[in-house]
Amino acid sequence: MTLGGKAEQGARAHNLCALSVRIFPFALAPGSPINTGVPEPLTLPINASTRYCAVYGHPVRHSASPALQNAGLAELGLNWRYLAFDVPPETLRAALLGAQAMGFIGLNLTVPHKVLALDWVDALDDSARRWGAVNTVRFEARDPAGNWRPLREFEQAPRELRSHGFNTDAEAITQAIGEDLGFELPGKRVLLLGAGGAGRTAALKLASDGVAELFLVNRTQSKAEAVAEEIHRLFPQVKVALGYPPGRVDLLLNATSLGLRPGDPLPLAPDAFTLEPALAVFDMIYRPAETPLLSLAKKAGCRTANGLGMLLHQGARALELWTGRHAPSRSMRQALQTHIYGAP
Ligand code: NAP
Repeated sequence: MTLGGKAEQGARAHNLCALSVRIFPFALAPGSPINTGVPEPLTLPINASTRYCAVYGHPVRHSASPALQNAGLAELGLNWRYLAFDVPPETLRAALLGAQAMGFIGLNLTVPHKVLALDWVDALDDSARRWGAVNTVRFEARDPAGNWRPLREFEQAPRELRSHGFNTDAEAITQAIGEDLGFELPGKRVLLLGAGGAGRTAALKLASDGVAELFLVNRTQSKAEAVAEEIHRLFPQVKVALGYPPGRVDLLLNATSLGLRPGDPLPLAPDAFTLEPALAVFDMIYRPAETPLLSLAKKAGCRTANGLGMLLHQGARALELWTGRHAPSRSMRQALQTHIYGAP
């Protein structure tokens, strides 16, 4: 299947009104078979009009993002591809400039690049500033009126380009907790295990979303202390304490990596905390689908969810930043499930 005049006209009619520049004819004709049902990513041929997004990580071979994003791109009918590159931290800056020079639409950044990129992108969105990490980059160009616009909107690569850093991880955590556990955060008591990158972001986001009390447990106490201090400073209305709670909590959130490997111990001390039926338990780990913590919580009658929804929503939000369109999250979730757990 190739792009034809009809696709070009449709794409232009859809997007031209606000722009003094013409857009690329990257969209397929509306109603093309790719838009129905679960898409078959990569059924469209790569051609000279194909645009690219990618994830940079080190290592990156484990990444589920290509499966997730290519499913979304196919469902949207875009002649774009999403790739994965193993980029060591010392070449991150060159790799960012390289993608920009080659007209990439955007990037996802994963371990170990999220904090490093704060120094290497040209502009930071409030989300990246607030959560102190960049997981999504959108390349932008200056239009004739002097405004920065997403690169997807330009027919010819303009001279002035920039990289714009965003964070979609924080919103994804609370969106997944809400969607997969049916859990409302305001006013709740939460026990959070882990104070690494994801644990810190979760703690700050939960505090900003109005939880009443946060209990922080981490192997390295000093990291939990630093997160608690940050919450005191930014969200003084939230009670924050180090260690296990004296009574019950509403939500237990695992943001440690314990449970990733077979034989890992539980991330919580069973004698210090009891899993009760009213508890909601969210484990950021999605592979395996059921960690020992989740299986214990299920047996105790708790509501449980793993981290797949979190992975989905950070990616869906990135796709929306790049495309300016609503992400097809149902198809993207299905693609993730198939990629990670095998055929349904
Ligand atoms: P990180 O910065 O490396 O933090 C790892 C956390 O796990 C720290 O709190 C660390 O404690 C703790 N930990 C590691 N080994 C431990 C052990 N043997 N005993 C006790 N605690 C241990 O990693 P991260 O990026 O925050 O990721 C944390 C987890 O979230 C990982 O499982 C990751 O897969 C998951 N995650 C999921 C998603 C998603 O989309 N679902 C996204 C991001 C992360 P110390 O501080 O003491 O080292």
